Amino acid sequence: MNAFTFPISQRAATMKSSVIYDILKMTERPEVISFAGGLPTPEGFPVEQLHKAFDTIFQTQAKTALQYGSSEGYRPLREWIVRDFKARGVDIQVENVLIVSGSQQALDLIGKLFLDEGSKVLFESPSYLGAIQSLNQFSPCYDTIPTDEKGLIPEALTSDLTKDARFAYVLPNFQNPTGRTLCLARRIALVKRAAELNLPLVEDDPYGELRFEGEALPSLFALSQQYGGTVIRMGSFSKILSPGLRIGFITAPVHIIDKLVQLKQATDLQTSTINQMAVYETVKDGFLDVHLPKVRELYHRQCHYMLEALEEHFAGMEVSWTRPTGGMFIWMTFHQPDMDTTQLLYRAIEEQHVAYVPGEPFFPSKPEKNHLRLSFVTVPEDKIRAGVAQLARLFR
Ligand code: PMP
Repeated sequence: MNAFTFPISQRAATMKSSVIYDILKMTERPEVISFAGGLPTPEGFPVEQLHKAFDTIFQTQAKTALQYGSSEGYRPLREWIVRDFKARGVDIQVENVLIVSGSQQALDLIGKLFLDEGSKVLFESPSYLGAIQSLNQFSPCYDTIPTDEKGLIPEALTSDLTKDARFAYVLPNFQNPTGRTLCLARRIALVKRAAELNLPLVEDDPYGELRFEGEALPSLFALSQQYGGTVIRMGSFSKILSPGLRIGFITAPVHIIDKLVQLKQATDLQTSTINQMAVYETVKDGFLDVHLPKVRELYHRQCHYMLEALEEHFAGMEVSWTRPTGGMFIWMTFHQPDMDTTQLLYRAIEEQHVAYVPGEPFFPSKPEKNHLRLSFVTVPEDKIRAGVAQLARLFR
């Protein structure tokens, strides 16, 4: 129902809160075990460390912290990011770094930079729901990059598919929603191919630091230094410190950063000075080296419980699921093509008191209904086991 008695923009009028979002509000009831949230676990928030950081800032630099700052971001934090990249063998300068108000803002700015109405943009299918929502503001036309069980297929980027595409949005690490990671050979092939086709890659990597198995792989951004092409990489402190701080960052060639700075100025002038300072104060002396192993260990355990419970309760059923080596999500695929997880969500919550996110909204076009996403990070072990059993009862 439209309650507006005066005209609003088409953009706003066509945006709708999804039915799924409304159903998921029901998961706030205490009896519901929710695997639906995309939130990191509060167990992983470094409360004391952040408290200390804010105290120090108030004691020593309160006036700077409470003042406006530059649109590019707090310089010491940008310099820390440069050092962090250099430690991983990626050579960047401070001019290559823009601090943003969460990587969600990076998506908005990248949309503003690249997209006109009807512009073509390439997506993995499925992909991050929040990216689809954000870019929908610009009414683009989505085309999908074919994928298989190992993620996107670089060879599928043909000149036909990429013709007139403004960029390809990709999540190489522990993809949201599938939990899949792109192997090194595919990363190299993707970067090379995109360079040949002059196709910018937008690399979204909020989960890369949450690897709990296997060796870290170079980012597409790092590989572009070797193989050429343009990669705009989005990073975030949301999953490694706290999402409430709203601190993310973009690394990209200087001319792209300069344009993004203009767009950011028009959007919000700058990201919170005090929060940037608090992040810098927290990470500057190597805190992440002690903090992250604990978060990874916790997520590893939780993922293991969920995989065990899935093996136990879904045995013999026509369903498969991914086995992530990091991140927060498992993706389930039901082999009956008429299975509709969106339709079943209401019953899952009402009858079985368990919630998931149906697969449908993760598809930028041609939605498939036989998938669902489970988060293994916020629910404790006993509830993971109980919740998976309840879920299996529904699908049985
Ligand atoms: N990208 C992906 C893939 C995400 O999953 C999220 C958060 N769920 C974001 C971006 C946004 O993160 P933030 O704005 O908190 O950095």
